[in-house]
Amino acid sequence: MIYSDFKGMKLSRLGFGCMRFATDPETGAIDQEKVNAMFDAAIAAGVNYFDTAYPYLNGNSELAMAEALSKYPRDSYYIADKFPGHSMPGGPVDNVALFMRSLEKCRTDYFDFYLFHNITEWSVKIYESESYHILPDIFRMRDEGRIRHLGFSFHGGKELLEEFLTKYEGEFDFVQIQCNYLDWTLQDAKEKYDIITRHGLGVWVMEPLRGGKLARLNETNTARLRELDPDASAASFGFRFLQDLPNIKVILSGMNELFQVEDNIRTFAEHKPLTDKEREVLLDMAEGMKSSVPCTGCRYCCAGCPMELNIPYLIECYNDLKVDYSLGSSMRLDALDPDKLPSACIGCGQCSHACPQGIDVPAVLAELSDLYAKGPKWAVTAKSREEAIRRDLHMD
Ligand code: SF4
Ligand code: SF4
Repeated sequence: MIYSDFKGMKLSRLGFGCMRFATDPETGAIDQEKVNAMFDAAIAAGVNYFDTAYPYLNGNSELAMAEALSKYPRDSYYIADKFPGHSMPGGPVDNVALFMRSLEKCRTDYFDFYLFHNITEWSVKIYESESYHILPDIFRMRDEGRIRHLGFSFHGGKELLEEFLTKYEGEFDFVQIQCNYLDWTLQDAKEKYDIITRHGLGVWVMEPLRGGKLARLNETNTARLRELDPDASAASFGFRFLQDLPNIKVILSGMNELFQVEDNIRTFAEHKPLTDKEREVLLDMAEGMKSSVPCTGCRYCCAGCPMELNIPYLIECYNDLKVDYSLGSSMRLDALDPDKLPSACIGCGQCSHACPQGIDVPAVLAELSDLYAKGPKWAVTAKSREEAIRRDLHMD
């Protein structure tokens, strides 16, 4: 296993993401035996980082993770958990009670790593709201020793990332972002990596294979990778791209089958840097996967929009969803107020007149609205996250 040095710890670069455990399609119950077997294999190979979140699997991920770890000494692994500020059920809650409930479910009295979950342009308003009081409460948990290292997971734009890190300089140790060879340019992951590094923090990676898309390539791309190395899996190329970036400390993989654990263990057994040719092929494949609307983000269209829509952001979401309808990409739309969704566009066409790229914005937004409405329904919805909080805090 390859490890990262981080503040005196040796973190396995492969982190076990606990968001995708296999569940019974009828009851939603997690297959605990399967989870135990995957954890045993991962721990035997040296994995020591486990990442869950309050709302994963309707609040049951924390419980399954704790059960699978219960036979190992607490100081032999690191747990990361997250505060669900993006899913508050209609108003402020007792943040400390919610945090304590997470500790209890994870059978621990401290978190090695704790994150504000899913900071976006929308959720940051909740996190920073005085009435919700989330940041001061969680900073206090850290100051009282219940959190060893504080960070946040981030799904917003690079401007917000820079602004947030500057505003809270000194409060955080790490930031978790969506990063892979496709999002390196598609979701500005390169710029985000540079911003976090410049602020002196560690980079944690989620969606290293973009929800599995980069592990299941089309025939042409599969053949291109076979030519480079006939024995290597598509997933291994995706992971090696990230291993080459020195400030990426932990790469989370949401494993739900033993064979995935075994393949990942092989990939993380040693650091085998990509050759220039291999990197070139991956980035070229990424270009081919995009079918982008060529928005430059100039915002000339925004001033005249009667609905005050964030048009370049919506076009980014569109480009993202067209590549792959993943949970990560739909979360960017989930994060918007209903009156800022693409369905709020009244088709007046002001934006298209202002657009130097000649983009037919109303048509793009109509298609995006349709895609979003018809998209897959995820097991973890905003509603189910809110219900879990209500249940745990006895709010009903
Ligand atoms: S067409 Fe839609 S996005 Fe464009 S200015 Fe009008 S309301 Fe705004
Ligand atoms: S004016 Fe056109 S290119 Fe500029 S942000 Fe708006 S849609 Fe994008």
